[in-house]
Amino acid sequence: MKDKSIVVIGGGPAGMMAAIRASQLKWNVILIEKNQELGKKLLLTGKGRCNLTNASDLESFIKSFSGNGKFLRDTFKAFSNLDLINFFENRGVKLKTERQQRVFPASDKAIDILDALRGELKKNKVKIQHNSEVENIVIRNNKVDGIEVKGKKSILCDAIILSTGGVSYASTGSSGEGLKMVEQVGHKIISLRPGLIGLMTKDKYPRLLQGLPLKNIRITFSDGKKKITSEIGELMFTDFGISGPLVLTLSGPVVDSLKAGKKVSAFIDLKPALSEKQIDARFLREFKVNPKKSIKYFLKGMLPLRLIDIFLEMSDISPDKTVSQITQQERRKLLLLFKALPLEISKPRPINMAMITKGGISLKEINPKTMESRLIKRLYFAGEIIDVDANTGGFNLQSAFSTGYLAGESAAK
Ligand SMILES: Cc1cc2nc3c(=O)[nH]c(=O)nc-3n(C[C@H](O)[C@H](O)[C@H](O)COP(=O)(O)OP(=O)(O)OC[C@H]3O[C@@H](n4cnc5c(N)ncnc54)[C@H](O)[C@@H]3O)c2cc1C
Repeated sequence: MKDKSIVVIGGGPAGMMAAIRASQLKWNVILIEKNQELGKKLLLTGKGRCNLTNASDLESFIKSFSGNGKFLRDTFKAFSNLDLINFFENRGVKLKTERQQRVFPASDKAIDILDALRGELKKNKVKIQHNSEVENIVIRNNKVDGIEVKGKKSILCDAIILSTGGVSYASTGSSGEGLKMVEQVGHKIISLRPGLIGLMTKDKYPRLLQGLPLKNIRITFSDGKKKITSEIGELMFTDFGISGPLVLTLSGPVVDSLKAGKKVSAFIDLKPALSEKQIDARFLREFKVNPKKSIKYFLKGMLPLRLIDIFLEMSDISPDKTVSQITQQERRKLLLLFKALPLEISKPRPINMAMITKGGISLKEINPKTMESRLIKRLYFAGEIIDVDANTGGFNLQSAFSTGYLAGESAAK
């Protein structure tokens, strides 16, 4: 046991795990949290069910991160998804694995995860200072010296673990102060952008379709000159444009193109398993069988009800027409809509609505084996504050827990 303490700033998943690990290694640990409670964002995760990790292997894990996943290889070796699963199961939290290897508490309650973390903090005698906002980290001779807390006494310490999160869902506490503090002491911040975010459209029709999900469709984003990204999955129309798992997953490169000033269009292929030729053959076959059927009624067999009027309006076809009255040109227009329903993307939703913040402390300035700053001795980083972000599926929380664990262990050693 040493005289001085390790201070952990920010009581989210990364900070709680860092405090637990450093205290397990017999250090005095002070966890400083500006909110009245720890883990406010954690309670929102997975729509309150907390998708805490993913049961896939290390390589799939790394691929789930947008570009910077390799940086986390040592982190995941130090504290893997299996270690995290064992951590909770050994503390009485039953877990279950759902589709795409997503791991949740069996109770479907994020609070069970938070309670286990709080129990472990208590067991290891971590001193928690709630309602305390850190304003500055104090550096002397290029080494950590202490912290300044708004309206409260400054604290001297031997090491600092900074885990104040990103800038999205600021009402949960992650409002970016940690990033400002670290910039002030000389670290580079890679530009902050929204990740896993819905996209706003110039077109009005998504608003009319608000709440309508489209399953197993392909969406392709393009900047006019080349394809940005394309994938099959589930999309949701919303009051601002488009969202749903597929859009959240693909939003990263789209946001980057928009930020670069490019005009981004999207095209929805409603029948990705069928070629244009196959759909046309079906049209002709069925038009022949029942020529008196109205086009509107015919489309009921091929489209969600709410899309039909929009399709007819966009292709300029009167809903009262029978299929025998549909011209070749009109059939062609319909075909085009089936294979490439167009949308113009105006911008991403505001960063505060993003599930994750892209960007953060530059990885070049962090030692991946310890999470220590390469610029300032005894300053460590953990969680969303660093420049890593992943797809949905539990990867982001695992990254917070693993970087927290490694930072806690390194600071204590
Ligand atoms: C709606 C939503 C759902 C999500 N669902 C999932 C999911 O199911 N699975 C998944 O893997 N990821 C999910 N995520 C992402 C995940 O929640 C984050 O990646 C994770 O919480 C990051 O952990 P963190 O500890 O780095 O930061 P945070 O959880 O943001 O914690 C940071 C803490 O630092 C505190 N703090 C900030 N500044 C100061 C200061 N100056 N002084 C003192 N304290 C300070 C804050 O109050 C906060 O408590 C979701 C995110 C959102 C928004």
